[in-house]
Amino acid sequence: MNPPAKKIVFSGVRPTGPAHLGNYVGAFRSWLRLQDEYRCFYSIVSWHALSSEYASSRTIGGNIFEMAVDLLSLGIDPGKCVLFVQSDVPEHAELHLILSMFIPLPWLERVPTFKEMQQELADKELNTYGFLGYPVLQTADIILYKAEVVPVGEDQEAHLELAREVTRRFNRFVAPVFPEPQTLLTEVPRLAGTDGRKMSKSFGNAVYLKDPPEVIREKIATMVTDTRRKRRSDPGDPDDCPAFTLHRAFVAREVREELARGCRTAGIGCLECKRAAIDALLGFLGPYQEKRRAFEKDPGSVREILAEGGRRAREEAKRTMAEVRDRLGL
Ligand code: SF4
Repeated sequence: MNPPAKKIVFSGVRPTGPAHLGNYVGAFRSWLRLQDEYRCFYSIVSWHALSSEYASSRTIGGNIFEMAVDLLSLGIDPGKCVLFVQSDVPEHAELHLILSMFIPLPWLERVPTFKEMQQELADKELNTYGFLGYPVLQTADIILYKAEVVPVGEDQEAHLELAREVTRRFNRFVAPVFPEPQTLLTEVPRLAGTDGRKMSKSFGNAVYLKDPPEVIREKIATMVTDTRRKRRSDPGDPDDCPAFTLHRAFVAREVREELARGCRTAGIGCLECKRAAIDALLGFLGPYQEKRRAFEKDPGSVREILAEGGRRAREEAKRTMAEVRDRLGL
């Protein structure tokens, strides 16, 4: 008997700059795990980057390469998954256009992350047609591969619910072509940036995976802590400490619990506490940075991996779009 077919997963990342720790904890850590269990399509979503970076579109090409190097250096394995660039597969744009005909405008206007992202990227003019349609393109990305499973953090659940509603609407009006994508809720510990806000490139508070060790040490040593610990003798609360979000993501539990006790009883100072996070991070990032240097020396191999991923993704996408056109009668 043949083993049951692996379920299909789709996930994407916007190439808007080098990857930071928040990207790793929020997405790539689960990508690495899922590539062993599912048939995964991982996309560097270049058109999504264009929706906010349209005024400086020439930066996107370099960022695609950077992101591919980051992913490959972390262990995303093109032998186990399909790694590709969204704009290498024009069928994403075709399906996006078709789906946009089916979606009532209020569905898009009520997506909570639309307003949030506009605020986060307040220096950009994002009151655009393309930006409002962002979740439609996301839906097209997912269902083009008939993905059944999408790993998301809680903050992205609204987008996936919308994707399901759009899928249902298409299936009802046209024909049952697409499975409704299901959420695979990944536990994403909130990772604070150096200033205590959510880690984000646009806030200028990110620790990048490719930062040299001395930069990582400096960023974490000066990172915001529980503000009640003004003096070494003041007890603190790790639950209110932005720096401790790093410990939750990277430091082994026993060490972390010991440090938390030391914080609450003022038994340790913040620098000593942060040193544990720095050591854990540098230990984790060492092998990644070594691989990164090797890929940077051989950019042709990275481009070849993306080109091959694009070919494989496109085969699937073409099959789906032939079915969609047929069912639409177009
Ligand atoms: S001891 Fe650690 S957890 Fe406590 S405030 Fe300082 S950095 Fe934060």
